[in-house]
Amino acid sequence: MLAIRDLSKTYANGVQALKNVSLDIPNGMFGLLGPNGAGKSTLMRTIATLQDADSGSVTLDELDVLANKDEARRRLGYLPQEFGVYPKVRAEDMLDHFAILKGVVDRKQRKEVVQGLLKQVNLWDARARKLGGFSGGMRQRFGIAQALIGQPSLIIVDEPTAGLDPEERNRFLNLLAEIGEKVVVILSTHIVEDVTDLCPRMAIIASGQVRLAGQPHETIRSL
Ligand code: ADP
Ligand code: ADP
Repeated sequence: MLAIRDLSKTYANGVQALKNVSLDIPNGMFGLLGPNGAGKSTLMRTIATLQDADSGSVTLDELDVLANKDEARRRLGYLPQEFGVYPKVRAEDMLDHFAILKGVVDRKQRKEVVQGLLKQVNLWDARARKLGGFSGGMRQRFGIAQALIGQPSLIIVDEPTAGLDPEERNRFLNLLAEIGEKVVVILSTHIVEDVTDLCPRMAIIASGQVRLAGQPHETIRSL
């Protein structure tokens, strides 16, 4: 469970990207819908502790996220909008490397973790291939595997379906829904169907403010 209270952020150029944003986000897949420039990325980066807010708080299962960034980073996985990969590295080697960085030091355990994740995101057959040869959808699924290292209780995914073909998009969203059975998954997007198809709960953000929050069909209908 994630609780966001009164988050505000004004950039140096005077743009007020977040205005007293408050949201309660239960376990499961949560859609954050809003047009470009609404403040979605600012909110996602703030929750992921990659950027500071001016005021407000974020609480993940009792943890004060903004005051305990190192601990919070261990408990969350973040897939940024522009997810870059090292093109010449093999998928399994890259995951192994990230597992070391996340503190999975035991070799045998790491091997199990990496194999388990590759299977979970359906990249087992591509494990020995270099990331540069991956399609957009494979790359996004790889990003999810990377975000899942360390068994986080929160996964943040920013605009993940841009550029995916319909089949890869469905595959990707179904994977997120599966993960959302156990943890909080926040899916930020400007595509209405990404949210209505699979998120049991959602919020709409525009001009840095939460406009509506609830179940997709009620929320979209009341627009
Ligand atoms: P979204 O992800 O919904 O497109 P953003 O959080 O990226 O929204 O942006 C919200 C607003 O803040 C926009 O007006 C954007 O131009 C502005 N903005 C975002 N990042 C910066 C920055 N680093 N400096 C100044 N303004 C920014
Ligand atoms: P469990 O499902 O009970 O966590 P697993 O067989 O999945 O057991 O995991 C075995 C070991 O690997 C456990 O110590 C677990 O904490 C660790 N582990 C499992 N998944 C991950 C992961 N994604 N990242 C890091 N460690 C993991």
